[in-house]
Amino acid sequence: MKQNGYIFDIKRYSINDGPGIRTTIFFKGCPLNCWWCHNPESQRKLPEEFSGCSLRWNFSPDENEKDMIGSAASVADIMEVIQKDIPFYDQSKGGVTFSGGEPLLQHEFLTSLSIECRKRDIHTAVDTSGYADISIFKSIAPLTDLFLYDLKLISEKLHIDYSGVSNKIILDNLSYLTDSGKKVIIRIPIIPGITSSDENILNIIDFISGLKTIEGVSLLPFHKTGYTKYEKMNKINKLPLIEPPSEEYMIELKDQFTQAGFNTGIGG
Ligand code: SF4
Repeated sequence: MKQNGYIFDIKRYSINDGPGIRTTIFFKGCPLNCWWCHNPESQRKLPEEFSGCSLRWNFSPDENEKDMIGSAASVADIMEVIQKDIPFYDQSKGGVTFSGGEPLLQHEFLTSLSIECRKRDIHTAVDTSGYADISIFKSIAPLTDLFLYDLKLISEKLHIDYSGVSNKIILDNLSYLTDSGKKVIIRIPIIPGITSSDENILNIIDFISGLKTIEGVSLLPFHKTGYTKYEKMNKINKLPLIEPPSEEYMIELKDQFTQAGFNTGIGG
């Protein structure tokens, strides 16, 4: 198993990435390129320049890396951070969430960390775009208590247009997980004019209604924090300037999912 990987952040005492108080490890690298991505610094697998923004977690002793985002880290480095938070997990029924980017892109590193968490009886969640080979899901599922699974667009064409990849394996992998009895919380980014169309929402409800082990649905309203990051990183932002969805609209949407039988929340 791989003992080193790349991360770009660690968030401690998180209450939005699964049950209880959690430590969220943000893996670097993502095979998608969503127009609305508010973490563009997550997309490339290797550390990269991010001028004017100090690195949030850096396990490198090299001072020259202070304007870089992303850091090589070992399993031991990460477990040292996680270990400190175990008392909070015990009190709150929390645990560790592996997020990104796409954590399955570094599946060997993820597996090594998950094994270490299992040894310590720590609850594990994987926050995923679902875009990975089925063999990777088969090997990581037994080490994972909960999947936080993103669903963006049901139309394959629109999914390709807005994320760069087909959603076919994403939908197939979700069916595999629920058929295997794994607990899944669906996360839907609500992007006005893109994922928020009536047709897409109805199609998502229709698709997940046929699945067995959906624990809940989280509706994630678009927010504008990503815009300045693209500027700082000199990256092209394809998303036009749009406003977040209104609170009223989010409540309507929540009611729609609740009436369809899903335990639904707004936000993480
Ligand atoms: S899947 Fe998530 S991290 Fe990857 S590009 Fe899309 S929004 Fe960004």
